Amino acid sequence: MAVMATDPPVPMRSRVLGVPVDVAADVFQAALALRDRGGGQIVTLNAEMTMAARANPELGRAIAAADLVIPDGAGVVWALGRQGHRVRRAPGIELARRLLEHGAERHWRVALVGASPAVMEQLLARLRAEIPALQVAFSSHGYQPPEAWPGLEDRLLAARPDLVLVALGVPRQETWIRGLASRRSGLWMGVGGSFDVWAGVKKRAPAWMGALRIEWLYRLIQEPRRWRRMLALPVFAWAVLRER
Ligand code: UDP
Repeated sequence: MAVMATDPPVPMRSRVLGVPVDVAADVFQAALALRDRGGGQIVTLNAEMTMAARANPELGRAIAAADLVIPDGAGVVWALGRQGHRVRRAPGIELARRLLEHGAERHWRVALVGASPAVMEQLLARLRAEIPALQVAFSSHGYQPPEAWPGLEDRLLAARPDLVLVALGVPRQETWIRGLASRRSGLWMGVGGSFDVWAGVKKRAPAWMGALRIEWLYRLIQEPRRWRRMLALPVFAWAVLRER
């Protein structure tokens, strides 16, 4: 009997506080399936971003238009659980790394945009050492003056990348990717602080803190200036508890 290939199930779109998020059995497979369909935008949603999307319509529209929204954060996973969706947390930094490694094997043309000039330099050196087959077709740091962006976008698109990782922070990375929707192909993903981590400038929280769902605390200790943004977390929890 012939063994039939089964397509990965299409992720189901759910919502947390009105913000869309996809429930997928395997986010990596969902991303590859998206690439096979011609590519699109991947958003990594956490509680802070959910609240930001409710306050910032441009960010809300970018997330609503995204092709794949993955639950990157204990708060979003918890909120989905209350709706009966049992999902695993899908850290964006892990999906992005897997896509880089997969892309290197498949000769994908990769583009990296964002982070400081020093971090970008360090990142390129580390990636050359750690993933020698990686084809970086375009790279640029993220502190360009406003007048430099149109030319940068033209050169980036002319490089015809298969995968573009963008570290400009929320909401800018999401709205910038969205703004290029009519001109781009391939997979485009906002990766926040991932370049800083891969370059060795910042550290990820240890696994035990992830297990205790207190990664936010590690982040706060490492970057105390985030405290104001983090006030969104209890507001998020309260809103989810009151929803229904
Ligand atoms: N960044 C940038 N250009 C800017 C502002 C920020 O390239 O004008 C970079 C910053 O250096 C860092 C990333 O964007 O590498 C944002 O990281 P952060 O951890 O703040 O991500 P967020 O939590 O905002 O997603």
